[in-house]
Amino acid sequence: MKWEIVIGLEIHAQLKTASKIFSGASTAFGAEPNTQACLVDLGYPGVLPVLNREAVNMAIRFGVATHSEIAERSVFARKNYFYPDLPKGYQISQYELPVVHDGWIDVVLDDGERKRVGITRAHLEEDAGKSLHEDFHGLSGIDLNRAGTPLLEIVSEPDLRSAREAVAYMKLIHQLVRYLDICDGNMQEGSLRCDANISVRPVGRHEFGTRAEIKNLNSFRFIERAINYEAERQIDILESGGSVVQETRLYDSGKDETRPMRSKEEANDYRYFPDPDLLPLMIDAAVVETARAELPELPWAKRARFSEQYGLADYDAGVLTASRAVAAYYESVASGVQDPKLAANWVMGDLAGALNKAGADVEDSPVDADALAGLLARIEDGTISGKIAKEVFEAMWAGHGSADEVIGDRGLRQITDTSAIMEVIGQVLADNPGQLEQFRAGKDKLFGFFVGQVMKATGGKANPAQVNDLLRKALSE
Ligand code: ADP
Ligand code: MG
Repeated sequence: MKWEIVIGLEIHAQLKTASKIFSGASTAFGAEPNTQACLVDLGYPGVLPVLNREAVNMAIRFGVATHSEIAERSVFARKNYFYPDLPKGYQISQYELPVVHDGWIDVVLDDGERKRVGITRAHLEEDAGKSLHEDFHGLSGIDLNRAGTPLLEIVSEPDLRSAREAVAYMKLIHQLVRYLDICDGNMQEGSLRCDANISVRPVGRHEFGTRAEIKNLNSFRFIERAINYEAERQIDILESGGSVVQETRLYDSGKDETRPMRSKEEANDYRYFPDPDLLPLMIDAAVVETARAELPELPWAKRARFSEQYGLADYDAGVLTASRAVAAYYESVASGVQDPKLAANWVMGDLAGALNKAGADVEDSPVDADALAGLLARIEDGTISGKIAKEVFEAMWAGHGSADEVIGDRGLRQITDTSAIMEVIGQVLADNPGQLEQFRAGKDKLFGFFVGQVMKATGGKANPAQVNDLLRKALSE
């Protein structure tokens, strides 16, 4: 029997507001435990939540970017449950009336195929605190710094059909929230994480199978592995005549397996009801239109423009628009050179390689866009070859000045003087009589050897095209 995997993701994005969703406490990551939790976050009696306008603006921005409806009226609800990191005994969330609903985005898969993924809803809620199990012998600590951090929970339709599609979708959401500047996307710190709902069904069957929900996946690799493991597990159960239980599971990355967490509560166990401390959230059409008008160029639009305007392959355009910072860097280099593809090759090649090795972001590159354009201009005007340019780039990276300074200081200017090159060729032929004889006897492959020797004798500075021409002439004499 052939099986089809069905996946829907619930992605939690921590919004980049300076203060919390219902209090004025700071949202900065990494502070001493419980130093960034005020009375509201601590759940003291008698205090009242006040909605953070910026969190709402960010949700609207996400909604208009994903072709979603923005609810004119949405409602905050209490989701009641007991847990030590939730001192109020309820989480403020949105339930029946979320602020964003019924949208979609198109995901481009590795092979270039496009896949439309429906966005059921995106609602605002507060994050809970954290339990700390490591530092206390036989006890758990509670850190409420995270309590009240604004979250946008983005719920997809069950439209995804493989781990690969789920990862591509998650990556697009990651890219989008950073483009929109609403979430820092730092998955290691938990700023973006997801729950994956997974079921399987025989190919051709219309009804969905029973799903399991894998909680709290915080890396693309874990999402992929957890989905594949879980789908296999469900297929094994069904093929041996059993049935899948609807439940919440955890992915253990050490063992590469999922295991049950707690049986899935019925939604009404949370006894959701509208929070009497908060008025319904009303959003004017004018506010939505302003947000729409102020959207930055979105990842897919930038990608399409890059391939059009700069003549780049779609894949390359995708790499160069991975973040707004990379795209801005590339455009700045491209504007300083004649050939946008040369700029693309360098940004994706030498620059990306050096950044990767240094673990640095493009914003912190020691070679800025103007400096790189200055280097590429010297390739284009024939001052240096592409190969020497790599050496110049390394020197620039190490802080030895601009391209022109490095070329001048190190005497790297390309040799284009015909008579100078001829002189070197004469010397090389005189020094290698054996190879010359073999070449004349028909061993054509040795041509490359002579080119190599001439390049070596000039320290790589001879113009390679000229060397080829002149050598061919010299050898045919
Ligand atoms: P809950 O509120 O219980 O978490 P929802 O109906 O809101 O459940 O669905 C949560 C997520 O599960 C959504 O992303 C949805 O697409 C996905 N989902 C629902 N049914 C299935 C299914 N049978 N298989 C896989 N994913 C599913
Ligand atoms: Mg859920």
